[in-house]
Amino acid sequence: MRAWLEMAARLERQEARNRRCGARTRAGTPCRAQGSGRGNRCKNHGGLCTGARSAEGRARIAAAQRKRWAAWRAQRARNEEIA
Ligand SMILES: [Zn+2]
Repeated sequence: MRAWLEMAARLERQEARNRRCGARTRAGTPCRAQGSGRGNRCKNHGGLCTGARSAEGRARIAAAQRKRWAAWRAQRARNEEIA
């Protein structure tokens, strides 16, 4: 009985370590690969991506994001004029 409890506890700990990726696949089902990377995603779903790491790279991405949002706001303003 005691041995069984120890086994269950060990399985639980293992479960916490081996999280499934859970990203939605193209088939619409959750990804069953082991997701231990960034955000508990597997290597196929962004788990290996570290994002921009240098200060320069982060600044470049921030600038690109600001540009995209500015374009989006301009587009929305045009749409509201029409409506
Ligand atoms: Zn995955």
